[in-house]
Amino acid sequence: MPELPEVEITARLIGEAVSGVRIESALTPGINALRSFDPPLSAIEGATIAGIGRRGKLFVIKVEPELSMLIHLMSAGRLQLYETRASLRDRTSRLLVRLGDGRELRLREFGTKQAAWVKLLRAGELENEETIATLGPEAYPDPPPLGPLLDAPRPLHGLLRDQRVIAGIGRSWVDEILHGAKLSPFKRGSELSEEEAGRLREAVVACLGGALEHYGQVLKLPIPDKLPMPLAVHRRNGEPCPRCGDQIEAVFYEDYVMCYCPTCQTDGKLLKDRRLSRLLK
Ligand SMILES: [Zn+2]
Repeated sequence: MPELPEVEITARLIGEAVSGVRIESALTPGINALRSFDPPLSAIEGATIAGIGRRGKLFVIKVEPELSMLIHLMSAGRLQLYETRASLRDRTSRLLVRLGDGRELRLREFGTKQAAWVKLLRAGELENEETIATLGPEAYPDPPPLGPLLDAPRPLHGLLRDQRVIAGIGRSWVDEILHGAKLSPFKRGSELSEEEAGRLREAVVACLGGALEHYGQVLKLPIPDKLPMPLAVHRRNGEPCPRCGDQIEAVFYEDYVMCYCPTCQTDGKLLKDRRLSRLLK
């Protein structure tokens, strides 16, 4: 599930490799991932890639002279660069950008949901695009003070993942960040003390920055399907907490799992397992 560090490292590595390269053609095999109509996808044929950037968890591929391709991976998409062209039978391909030098930039999507999308926008349209326009401030490298930003009577676990509140954090990194800040996932944003808000901000920067540094050391092209995410808490339920040695616990939801250390984060309290309590009803 790609979040800010995974999208950022991908944008950096692939961006470096394709900047200045001419686009030969682009197509969207299978179910159409293109969510914009004007300009048509053919408008990028013959144009040059100026670079790849990131906003929140989205890629922005700048295409000269004045187009931007916005790509949202959703939960199971990947942006990858290949030396050769895809077989059109590859069912994971959602967008193929064929480059003049024979390589191919590919948006692939794994799993059964087909939710990843692409929009081709003109210069000036990017900031007004509905997803971009609603994004909160970037979580990295320099998020604003979190006290005012998270001042809502909602649990931190949901607030930090809400892209309209702060952009870039998802289900994996939120567990690491809250563990880093020694805060309960269910603590309400409006109940954060100034000291806690400061600690949380530091944990956001440290976790996302640490992940990026790790990826910078271990990743190079081609980017693998599954990134080596340096997670210490998320999906580590049953294992010892790296800080205190207590057992990491989990709360299971329908489509994700929240992991935390009771000793470090909840004064030793076990949070209710929603899956279990639903079964017992
Ligand atoms: Zn602990």
